[in-house]
Amino acid sequence: MKNKPLNRQKYSKEVKEGLYQIVLPTTFPVGPVNVYLIEGNALTLVDTGPKTDEAWEILIKGIEEVGYQLMDIQQILITHYHIDHSGLLERVRKVSGAQILGHPLLEPYIELKPEFNEYRNQFYFKLYKSCGVPHEYQHHFARQQKRFQHLFDPSQVDIKLAHRQQVPGLEDWQVLYTPGHSQDHLCIYRRRDGVLLGGDHIIEHISSNALIEPPLHSTNERPLTLVQYRAALEMCADEDIQIIFTGHGEPVTKHRQLIHERLKNNWLRTEKIRHLLEDGPKTVYELTTLLFPSIFKKELNLTISETIGHLDLLTLLHQVKVEEIEGVSYYSI
Ligand SMILES: [Zn+2]
Repeated sequence: MKNKPLNRQKYSKEVKEGLYQIVLPTTFPVGPVNVYLIEGNALTLVDTGPKTDEAWEILIKGIEEVGYQLMDIQQILITHYHIDHSGLLERVRKVSGAQILGHPLLEPYIELKPEFNEYRNQFYFKLYKSCGVPHEYQHHFARQQKRFQHLFDPSQVDIKLAHRQQVPGLEDWQVLYTPGHSQDHLCIYRRRDGVLLGGDHIIEHISSNALIEPPLHSTNERPLTLVQYRAALEMCADEDIQIIFTGHGEPVTKHRQLIHERLKNNWLRTEKIRHLLEDGPKTVYELTTLLFPSIFKKELNLTISETIGHLDLLTLLHQVKVEEIEGVSYYSI
C-alpha cells in the first residue's frame, strides 16, 4: 500500500511517471550510484546499491519517501553484477522476500560458488601470464576479489530475462540485453515514452569500460567484450530513446550524439595502439604501461581489459598479428 508521499523529497525523486530515482553513496572511485523504483503490477527496485550501512539507510528513506516500505518491494531487477549496483541485494531480498530478476549470466556472479571463484581466478592468472604481466602482479585479480569479498553476500536469481522480452510485472518495460561492460549487463526500455534505464552501459560523464571476463564454460572462447560493447551501443543508437536514466550521474538526453562520441574516441585509442606497435612487437602489458602510465598499477584489470579490447578489434580487422613465445602473446603490425 502506498502512503501519501512527503512534500519535500530529499532522498528520492520522481524522474518520470511511476519511476523514482534514489541516489546512494558508494566508497568506490566512481562515486554515488543511482537505483530506481518502478511502480507497476509489481513494485520493482532496479539495482540495490553497495553493501554499506549508509547506502542501506538512504535506500530505506528513499523508498519511504515515495510512499512504500522495503517490505513492499516485490521484485529486484539487477542491471549487472558489479558490487556498487548489487551489494545490498541479499539484504533487501531477505527483508522484502522479493524475487530477483536478471540475465542468465548474472547467476554465477550472484551465487558466487567457490568453484566459480576459483575458475575466475585461474582465468585471470592465465590471462595475465599471456599478457606478459610481471610475476608479482599475476595474482592481482584473486587478491582484489579477496579484498572485496565482504562487500557482497551470495544470493540467487529467480527469474532469468531474455533480450526483448517484457519485464514480468512491468508490462510497459522491455529488456534490452547490452553485454560489454559486463557479460550479464541489461537495460530496460519503456517504448511509450522512450525511457531507458541504462545501468552502466552508457554514462554521461564517464566512458564505460568493456571488462574482459571469462567465458561461461572453460571450453569456450573468451568473449570479445569491446566488440560486444560497441555493437550494443550501436543497437541503442538505433532505438528511439528520449532519455536514459543511468547507473551513475545525470541522465542522457542526446543519446545518439553521446554514443557517436564514445565510438569515435574509442577508435582513436585503437589507432593509438596500432601506432605504438610501429616500432616493434609488444605484449599487452607493455602496451598497457605505455597507454596508462599513471594508473595501470592501481587499476590493472581495467587497463589490461582496455588494451586487450582494442587488440581484439585490430586482430578481427587483420591489422595486427599475434605470435606466442613461451606462453606470452606478442602483437605486431
Ligand atoms: Zn558496472
